[in-house]
Amino acid sequence: MSKIIYGLRIQVRGIVQGVGFRPFIYNLALEYNLKGWVKNNSTGVEIEVNGDQASLNSFARNIETKAPPLAKINHIHIEPVSPNGYTTFEILTSTSNEGEFVPVSPDISVCEDCLKEFNDPLDRRYHYPFLNCTNCGPRFTIIKDIPYDRPLTSMAGFKMCQDCAAEYNDPVNRRFHAQPIACPDCGPRIWIEGAKSRSTHTTNTSTGYIISTVQKEFRLGSIIAIKGLGGFHLACDATNPQAVQTLRLRKKRDEKPFALMMPDLDTVIEHCYITDTDKNLLGSPEKPIVILRKRPGSNIVAEVAPGQETLGVMLPYTPLHYLLFTDFPEFNGMTSCRILVMTSGNISDEPITYENQEAKERLADIADVFLMHDRPIHIKCDDSVARTVRINTSKTSPTDNTVVLTRRARGYTPVPLDLPWVSRQILAVGAELKNTVCLTRNEFAFTSQFIGDLQNYETYESFLKTIDQFEKLYRINPELLACDLHPDYLSTRYAIERAESTGRPVIQVQHHHAHIASVMAENGIRPDTPVIGLAFDGTGYGDDGNIWGGEILIARYQGYLRSFHLDYFPLPGGDYAIKNPSRTALALLWKEGIDWLPDLPCTKVYCAEDLMQIKSQLVHQINTPLTSSMGRLFDAIASLIGVRQKVNYEAQAAIELEAICDPIEKATYEFEFTNETINLALMVKNIVEDYLIGAPVSRIAAKFHNTIIRVLSHVVDKLAGEYGIKTVALSGGVFQNIKLLEGLLSEFQDRDYNVLFHQKFPTNDGGVSLGQAAVAHHQSVGSLE
Ligand SMILES: [Zn+2]
Ligand SMILES: [Zn+2]
Repeated sequence: MSKIIYGLRIQVRGIVQGVGFRPFIYNLALEYNLKGWVKNNSTGVEIEVNGDQASLNSFARNIETKAPPLAKINHIHIEPVSPNGYTTFEILTSTSNEGEFVPVSPDISVCEDCLKEFNDPLDRRYHYPFLNCTNCGPRFTIIKDIPYDRPLTSMAGFKMCQDCAAEYNDPVNRRFHAQPIACPDCGPRIWIEGAKSRSTHTTNTSTGYIISTVQKEFRLGSIIAIKGLGGFHLACDATNPQAVQTLRLRKKRDEKPFALMMPDLDTVIEHCYITDTDKNLLGSPEKPIVILRKRPGSNIVAEVAPGQETLGVMLPYTPLHYLLFTDFPEFNGMTSCRILVMTSGNISDEPITYENQEAKERLADIADVFLMHDRPIHIKCDDSVARTVRINTSKTSPTDNTVVLTRRARGYTPVPLDLPWVSRQILAVGAELKNTVCLTRNEFAFTSQFIGDLQNYETYESFLKTIDQFEKLYRINPELLACDLHPDYLSTRYAIERAESTGRPVIQVQHHHAHIASVMAENGIRPDTPVIGLAFDGTGYGDDGNIWGGEILIARYQGYLRSFHLDYFPLPGGDYAIKNPSRTALALLWKEGIDWLPDLPCTKVYCAEDLMQIKSQLVHQINTPLTSSMGRLFDAIASLIGVRQKVNYEAQAAIELEAICDPIEKATYEFEFTNETINLALMVKNIVEDYLIGAPVSRIAAKFHNTIIRVLSHVVDKLAGEYGIKTVALSGGVFQNIKLLEGLLSEFQDRDYNVLFHQKFPTNDGGVSLGQAAVAHHQSVGSLE
């Protein structure tokens, strides 16, 4: 007796395109002997199946439990339909519906299966720089529109050869509908070009010859511009001081650290201390740059990361990178360099270069040689930066580490965040530094990749382009704009102008409120839930027009109460003081009524006349904006005890202050707090005394960190008692300080607080756009009711 046949229509939403979902469904249907079809549409993957009840049930259940590794399912909608008499199971042509959208997969590093082929001399893709499959390779950086199909990617110009087409059309093949599928016969190619007068240009197109030429250049100390997945890198031998110095000089980058690429984990272990969490992170499909502590005795030149005890290291993530570390004895008998500087292909703070012609122009004075390819990059995307944080409390095991992102880009963007509410269509334009933008629709928040510092014209252009690309890709037509309160941010001006010209409302969100809303949204906090928010960073425009940055807020998405802040101190010269922490230190001493003793490092850098002038500036309040910034306090303390008097990049003084901390020191300084302000006078006095009696600066630095942790614990306890709130939210650039973050996590978790901190989004201003979108949604919804 034949069983009764039923039908199901299934719609799957989430990251389900470009990740091998349709072949997975195809094979699953065959397994249960179901008939029907599967196809991509503009909202995800649509399936119709006919079969007996038991098989249909198992099939539906397995969609979620057995989904391919890169898929991320947000929602499955299943409805019964009448059976249609299908006799086969097929994969149908994609359809697109007007106005619909589907989340796009990020770029994924080359997978194990592909690497096996890459290393197999008998495989037709042996040493092919662009091999990929449905489980790996480019996605986000090559997509022009949805649905994600080859004609709508930057692979459209490459016509598949017969062999590739056969794999592409074979439902059981690993490359079935792998949109960037390619091979040496039909896919992209690499070549090498010399810059300026160099005659490296060659007609020899063999991969081995090209790569061994590049390796020879590395050995000679040359700077090579290498086109990668989301843009160009500038690379050189990280063990050659001359090469690293030349790169710094040409790139106009004084001391900001360079990222490194090493061929394998063994090499990383040789040069850095790594935990199991670091190991997993380095080898994860996202392959971010991981911040690791450097081993003494490493031969990596100090100029790679001056003044730091850490290195940013990544492993190869494209086949082309693996080639850089492959030896080709038949061409030059030279072994490849094992450690390469791999820094973004740009000058100073400009955005990463990603087009061939653009690279040859903009990088002409930096690179000696260009390693090019002809697969266009449609969306530029920098490397992501991550590090692991120890969560070391009495309630967790010491191995309970977690990963935090300081720059969210390749490998992570554009994975959307699931919001615990259904959002209006909003464009939030972020802050001025480390800018990202965030677009929301339905239950999704799409935060862009790291864009950069908007003061720069090229970065502003890429800000505009990113907004355009995201709105198009996700079919978002913002009904509401959100921006910072700072009137001079370029992003604020953009939002206000666009709101005016389109007749849409714009909501200006206070910077630190946005920070706290961001960490709340990331952690799935529901509307109307209040938290105690610790928002600490360098600079944010306050409600009172002062420069905020050491704020403790009782916050919800809708609004906030500023319950505590660091006592204001003046910044003589504003931005000039930010670049010269000694001025901030002097101002702090002046404010607290402490003499500018000649033995203090911050006093020593000035002649008597300069000191007179700074004092007069403070007394007469000439360009001395007030700040409550925690970042500036760290600068001032670093200067007070002689760690650094001038900074070459953001947070340099604070980073060096953290680096010298004596981990054994557990003592704290005295402190006071009044109703609304945390008073620093006692602590600053004690620090000066300690310094003058010759206490080691490593101990002073540690005691300062301990004090901040202690102060915050006290304030939070007080607020928790008053408001009955047991959730503490940490956000802002200062939490990139791992000593501070780890210290606070263990304090709060030991005392049973629910602690929210950033893991998927940066704690610095890269997370602000998400918070702006969350606040704008709830404030606008509130005003509608
Ligand atoms: Zn693969
Ligand atoms: Zn081919």
